[in-house]
Order: sequence, then structure tokens, then C-alpha cells
Amino acid sequence: MHKDIATPKRTKEIMDKYGFSFKKSLGQNFLIDTNILHKIVDFSGITSTTAAIEIGPGIGALTEQIAKKAGKVVAFEIDQRLLPILEDTLSPYENVKVIHQDILKADVKSLIEDEIKGYEEVKVVANLPYYVTTPIIMKLLTESIPLASITVMLQKEVADRMAAKPSTKEYGSLSIAVQYYTKAETVMIVPKTVFVPQPNVDSAVIRLEVRKEPAVIVKNEEFFFEIVRASFGQRRKTILNNLISHLPDGKAKKPSIEHALSQASIDPRRRGETLSIEEFGRLSDELLALVKTT
Ligand code: SAM
Repeated sequence: MHKDIATPKRTKEIMDKYGFSFKKSLGQNFLIDTNILHKIVDFSGITSTTAAIEIGPGIGALTEQIAKKAGKVVAFEIDQRLLPILEDTLSPYENVKVIHQDILKADVKSLIEDEIKGYEEVKVVANLPYYVTTPIIMKLLTESIPLASITVMLQKEVADRMAAKPSTKEYGSLSIAVQYYTKAETVMIVPKTVFVPQPNVDSAVIRLEVRKEPAVIVKNEEFFFEIVRASFGQRRKTILNNLISHLPDGKAKKPSIEHALSQASIDPRRRGETLSIEEFGRLSDELLALVKTT
């Protein structure tokens, strides 16, 4: 058996051997604790019938642990300097493919098409670069990649917002966007000490189980998200007042907006942050009729 990559000693050895220095601008905070890595992999539930996608393998600390459990790992890394290192550190694992691309620019769906053939499910497992966590997750959820779940390390504050329930201060349009596509749960809070260098913020692991159907079926998805954003526009305003300020001719249409709220069984004096995703769905369908008839 070879030594795990994710120990402080081996990580330092690898970095010294290649003269590698961290790029803060790429969110390079590497994991140096195998216990945490095992937990992430366990939470993801990957097995030999899983094709895993990793974003940002770094020097391969997490990739190695995924490779031991998954049938296949496809890892996207933006930093060219890491490619020769990964070739070396991951040489014992034949089921790993590293793709040198910016995940935000990559055509992930077609790049993984051949790689995932023959596997029962596709799951994302990663320690994400913190400067782009939300765009990465939204890209994965909206590009019709056939994903069963996403289990990732990210800033605790962002995990809290993604998994937030109505009537909490973390609940907002990001919670709705993520929960529209997934069932979200924070599964672990992670101390800064397990990274080199240590990040400035607290971290958490979130698990997003991708839904087969969105949480609510709406007539117009784009309009639904627009109404959600408008409802959280000014958090201290009532839902009615936020809608009046947002919708074209809102003031003149106050009676029709009140009617739509009543049809959706929503008290106009409530605040947006108290509405469930189902209520937003009903409301956007009612308001759509109003916008369409003008
Ligand atoms: N997986 C490693 C670990 O856990 O130790 C490294 C995680 S580190 C937090 C984030 C990694 O994402 C870095 O290797 C960084 O170079 C890479 N990265 C940053 N931006 C990226 C992007 N847009 N596309 C792909 N990889 C990216």
C-alpha cells in the first residue's frame, strides 16, 4: 500500500518536489486530513457502480479516496501546474481521468458522456474552490447533466443559505434555486485546521440529492425565479409591496396582485421570506396570468 496523499507530511513532500506554490485566486486550500476525506466519500454514497465527477482535484487528496470506491472518476482542474503532479500522485489509480478545463467553461455533459457509459449513476464529489461555489453548483444543476447527487465542501455560510428553511435569516433566492432542483442537507461542519493553507471562513459539507422532478411544477420557470427574486427584494417589505415595486405598472395593478395572492392562498401582509417553495410556485402561476393578459 502506498501512503495517502492527504497527510501534512506527504502534501509537503509533493509540493516541495514540484516547487508548487498555492494560488489564492484559484481557491487552493488543500485537505490534509484523511478522516475528513473518508467522511465526505461516505456521505456521497459512491460505489463501484458510480461514475464520480470531481471539480478541482488539486494534488489528488480527495480524488484518491474517491478512486478507491467509485468505478470511475472524472476530475476537472483549471491549473495547468497541477497536471504533472496529478499524473504522478494518481498513477496507482487506473480509473481516474483528469481533464484540464475551467469547469465553468467546460461542456461537461459531452465531456463525460463516454466516461459514464455503463455506470448506474453519476455523482459529484468535491472540495470546491470557494470563489466560485455558487456558479459551479448552479451550472451542474441547470445543464441537464444526469446527476444523482452533489456532495461538496464549501463555505459554511453558503451551505447554510442553500439548505435554509422558510422564516430563517439564511432563507433567500439561493435556497429556492437549490431546493427547486434538490433536497439539500448540511451533513458536516469542518474546522479550518484540516486545510493548507487555512481558509478565512468556516467550511461545511453539503449533500444535494437531485430530484427527478423539480420541487414544484410551474407554468413558466423563468417567471417563477423572477417572482422569487422580487419577493426577497426588500426583506422588510410585505410580499404585496415587493410585488408592486417589481411588476410593470405594479401600483395600478394592486387589486389584481391582491387577487392573485388571494387565489394562491397567501396573506398579502406576509413577507417573502415566510413563503414555501410550493407557495412561490402557486403565486407565480397566478401572477403569470396577470402579466400575460396585459
Ligand atoms: N481537491 C483538492 C483537495 O481537496 O485538497 C483541492 C481543492 S481546492 C479547495 C480547489 C481546487 O479547484 C484547486 O485545485 C483549484 O486549482 C481548482 N479550481 C479552481 N477554479 C477552478 C475552475 N474554475 N475549474 C476547475 N478547477 C478549478
